[in-house]
Amino acid sequence: MKRICVYCGSRSGKRPEYTQAAHLLANELILRGIGLVYGGAHVGIMGQLADAVLAKNGEVIGVIPEDLVTKEVAHYGLTELKIVGSMHERKSLMADLADGFIALPGGLGTLEELFEILTWAQLGLHRKPCGLLNIDGYYDGLVAFLDHAVDEQFVKPVDRSMLLIEQQPQRLLNIFANYQAPSVEQWIGIDAT
Ligand code: AMP
Repeated sequence: MKRICVYCGSRSGKRPEYTQAAHLLANELILRGIGLVYGGAHVGIMGQLADAVLAKNGEVIGVIPEDLVTKEVAHYGLTELKIVGSMHERKSLMADLADGFIALPGGLGTLEELFEILTWAQLGLHRKPCGLLNIDGYYDGLVAFLDHAVDEQFVKPVDRSMLLIEQQPQRLLNIFANYQAPSVEQWIGIDAT
């Protein structure tokens, strides 16, 4: 794996554990020689993660839409900052640049980005691993909801299985290293199981 895209909060959250997790993930990326692709801001967990990778001379590519450059405060110390025209271009370029995707704790933007890339996997548009780092139980409610959605037969078990959920960056990246995407039915069936 050359680069991993990380979605995470433009805020730091309530607990220090969230920021600590960003540092742990940064260390693991460095150890494995994997570059970081992210949203290009220097605020919140996004900024902490980028700074932690940069501090160890890792590669960081930020992708930010023009209208967020001032609002989110773009990070100008990155290996490369790509300024794009829209949110859609941002997500598409981030997806192209990365070999896998990880969500750390974050807010609505993080959730939207994670679920978009997961639905692209569900549709067979890519076969790259998608992971959720459930730090300090932050995503417990979301994980329970996904299991509920499977129970209620709105989400296929195979699609649910494409979200790899771990608590430690090291474990998640080990799983990424050996990941084989399940074969995806090209027919988006009404009743496929
Ligand atoms: P948040 O998790 O809400 O703090 O946001 C994390 C990142 O997601 C930030 O870079 C936001 O610009 C971005 N973001 C916010 N809303 C959206 C959206 N609707 N689609 C994609 N990204 C978003």
